[in-house]
Amino acid sequence: MSIILIFIDGIGLGDNNPEINPFAVMNTPTLHDLSGGERWLRDTPRTVTDRAIFMPTDAELGMEKGKPASGSGQAAILTGRNIPQEIGEHYGPKPNKAIRDILDRDNLFLTLKKAGRAAALINPHPPRLFEVIQSGRRLPSSIQYAVLAAGIALFNHDDYYQRRAMSPDWTGHGWVNHLGYHDAPIYEPEDAGKLLAEIGKQRDFSMFSTWLTDEFGHRARMAEAIEFMEVTDRVLTGLLANWRDEDGLIVLTSDHGNMEAMDERTHTRNKVPTVAIGGGRETFADNFSDLTHITPGILRVLGVNSG
Ligand SMILES: [Zn+2]
Repeated sequence: MSIILIFIDGIGLGDNNPEINPFAVMNTPTLHDLSGGERWLRDTPRTVTDRAIFMPTDAELGMEKGKPASGSGQAAILTGRNIPQEIGEHYGPKPNKAIRDILDRDNLFLTLKKAGRAAALINPHPPRLFEVIQSGRRLPSSIQYAVLAAGIALFNHDDYYQRRAMSPDWTGHGWVNHLGYHDAPIYEPEDAGKLLAEIGKQRDFSMFSTWLTDEFGHRARMAEAIEFMEVTDRVLTGLLANWRDEDGLIVLTSDHGNMEAMDERTHTRNKVPTVAIGGGRETFADNFSDLTHITPGILRVLGVNSG
């Protein structure tokens, strides 16, 4: 039984308005299948289909002040704790000391490692990123920080070339066009999905993370947002064609809204989509309503005590 967590930064359930919301116009039939044929919008209810459970997910976590942010939201996802309440604010994009102190003691990667389970963040990191993180010139995200706090190595360019890692843009074009790795593997979206299934079956827990969506929201890049989600849909098509319930659970989620409201370039208070697909999805979805329920659900499905 393996679990793949697909984290897509900054996607919320917003208005059915094709002018400002990519989710109101994008051609994503596989995503819509997961929510009973409905688009992913504010009024889309919790939906159970024969293969998946779609759950609108609260990202505000009871904080009336400020808007949900990446640092505290990702930490809530990876600890099962109400991080904004614990530190007194939504905080981001990078984790502050209060969040880092919590992640040092308690996070999903750490819990799995202590339980003898194999866990990895399957995104490859280019050498320059290791340099800026090690030199302290750039703080890691809460997700990267949690992995490092568990003593788990971040994947690098070699993992990408060896096809053990999945590029945040899915297809690998960023490695060729932006990072200058001209001989790096590139994939058709469906083939990236097939590879994701293979990578996911190699260990207990694999997390994929992309921040591109949040960036499209901040920059109001409607066309690029639609294109990326349509690529994501084809990746999911390839993934699901190569994943049986016996293989385990796939969870897709986000940390806060943003990209669904292109009229404002900030995060939103909207709910975010969480979808549980495959084996163990009912166990995962039991009593699920907000971001703090992701880690407990994953541990339940894997049969690991949270300690
Ligand atoms: Zn975020």
